[in-house]
Amino acid sequence: MDSTTLEHDVLVIGAGGAGLRAAIEASAHGARVGLVCKSLLGKAHTVMAEGGMAAALANVDERDGWQVHFADTMRGGQYLNHPVMAELHAKEAPARVRELEAWGALFDRTKDGRILQRNFGGHKFPRLAHVGDRTGLEMIRTLQDHGVHQGIDVHMEVTVLALLKDGPRVCGAVAYDRERGRFRVFSAGAVVLATGGIGKAYSITSNSWEYTGDGHALAYHAGADLMDMEFVQFHPTGMVWPPSVRGILVTEGVRGEGGVLLNSQGRRFMFDDIPENYRNQTAKDAEEGWRYVQGDKTASRPPELLTRDHVARCIVREIKSGRGSPHGGVYLDIAWIKDKIPNAAEHIKKKLPSMYHQFHQLAGIDITREPMEVGPTVHYIMGGVRVHPETQMSTVPGLFAAGEVAAGLHGANRLGGNSLSDLLVFGKRAGEHAAGFARTSGRGRVDPAQVERAQRDALEPFERRLGAGGENPYQVQNALQEMMQDLVGIVRTEVEMARALDRLAVLKERAGRAAATGHREYNPGWHTALDLKNLLTVSEAIARSALERRESRGGHFREDYPGKSEREAQTNIICRRAEGGSMSVVREPLPAMSAEHKRLIEEQK
Ligand SMILES: Cc1cc2nc3c(=O)[nH]c(=O)nc-3n(C[C@H](O)[C@H](O)[C@H](O)COP(=O)(O)OP(=O)(O)OC[C@H]3O[C@@H](n4cnc5c(N)ncnc54)[C@H](O)[C@@H]3O)c2cc1C
Repeated sequence: MDSTTLEHDVLVIGAGGAGLRAAIEASAHGARVGLVCKSLLGKAHTVMAEGGMAAALANVDERDGWQVHFADTMRGGQYLNHPVMAELHAKEAPARVRELEAWGALFDRTKDGRILQRNFGGHKFPRLAHVGDRTGLEMIRTLQDHGVHQGIDVHMEVTVLALLKDGPRVCGAVAYDRERGRFRVFSAGAVVLATGGIGKAYSITSNSWEYTGDGHALAYHAGADLMDMEFVQFHPTGMVWPPSVRGILVTEGVRGEGGVLLNSQGRRFMFDDIPENYRNQTAKDAEEGWRYVQGDKTASRPPELLTRDHVARCIVREIKSGRGSPHGGVYLDIAWIKDKIPNAAEHIKKKLPSMYHQFHQLAGIDITREPMEVGPTVHYIMGGVRVHPETQMSTVPGLFAAGEVAAGLHGANRLGGNSLSDLLVFGKRAGEHAAGFARTSGRGRVDPAQVERAQRDALEPFERRLGAGGENPYQVQNALQEMMQDLVGIVRTEVEMARALDRLAVLKERAGRAAATGHREYNPGWHTALDLKNLLTVSEAIARSALERRESRGGHFREDYPGKSEREAQTNIICRRAEGGSMSVVREPLPAMSAEHKRLIEEQK
């Protein structure tokens, strides 16, 4: 086959925040690093992040500290988080943010020149370091600028198709360049997966085209464990109208700046349902909520800033009860703050420039004057590759994972802003430990038979013909997305998920007949045919795990098991490739929480 072979100590797959930070760290530890990404450098999904990165810098409220951040993260994740990861994240995020600042990131500032922090759902104090509502862009720009001086080899517009193994360990990957369709073989001492999420398994999502679950599927097929895949986060506020923009994110920053949620009767419905474990941290009325967003330290946060899982379900309840907006959402109103502050329009444009432009250009709405229409959108996956909490190594030696593709930190529900800090904290750790693994273990032996199999599989779609038994890959993808949205969506039942598994079997069979027309040079139909395997793998893992978890917790809501279960509270659900290739689902006990972790959680209640 026509492949080029490249050698690196550490191969990082993915050039978002986690991949770039891992690559920088591995390189700083003396490793020769290759960085692979599907799009152009600088275009990874992280660039879309808006609201900010959570770190207990205590610049705006001196009562903040890593202990409070730890407890908030655990409560938000409904105690399924790995406590050691939550502790490391809370402790190390401030240093990672300051490091980013030292590398040139410009942040919004407090009056006395420190990094400004904003309110976000589930965070007790203003905690999100931000750059207007374009924080991800600044993060990527800074990491990229820093990374290019490290001598990292970047392979852009290259998609990894399969991981290579030498016995139990990983020793490289097979990829193809998207432009010309030619193969590349990477031989590496260690591999870091930093491939992001799975949003494109659903039809309504805030995620970009890159989110086809590749890293999850690559890890799974290489023998790694996937953990807690049932926890898919539906962000409460995506655009709902016009149809062409349905799902695009409306940042939580809107609510952090005082935006309120209203139903068609003009009622602020979030006050109707406040969970018991947040009652003493939630404003009693609208007046107290407003004082909170204005920085009054004696006030509690408004109910719009409760965790995403809860807010999303309250919105669904309003819509299902016939109190939704004309296009099937509810209203999000920031314009009302003109009753409270002078120059409100200017203030909104300054604090939320992207939101202003997004609604102006895509929906013809001026958010300084009118409410937005919003509804839930698939945004993030808390589940992913099971990793060691300190090194980020998966259950396969030499294979590491960081960022959205990894599991553990966020438990059943991620707090907004905790992803960007996750990328920095655990990206750094993955890079360091991958470099260490490569140094001590060297590069493994690449097996030509594995390479050939991956390449042959990739070219199969060209051997099929549309109209002669071949399937159109776009139609299969579309059918999968609609099915996942309908049957494994925000509200789940056993009957529907069992039906989803039947449909997945049919879709798998159809995907096995997906055909590509034309040649290998930039051929999106072929790329889609190749993506299907990953989308189907992650969809099956989500459906099987969701069927197994018989309770409602965080991002996972079962209509047939609406309460929390003591037994499930102690369980991680693991998907693993069984002998013969089928997907097995096993239950494993949660890692034990130390007395110190328990004390911190109690103290912050
Ligand atoms: C609109 C939006 C706003 C958000 N705002 C915030 C926010 O304010 N704060 C916050 O904390 N979080 C936010 N999030 C979540 C956060 O942005 C993501 O979770 C995070 O950026 C993921 O980063 P990552 O490094 O894990 O992956 P990504 O940034 O997605 O990078 C993935 C990389 O992997 C590459 N890749 C994937 N598959 C392959 C393959 N097969 N071969 C080669 N390369 C591959 C891609 O090309 C890409 O380079 C937001 C998300 C969205 C959608």
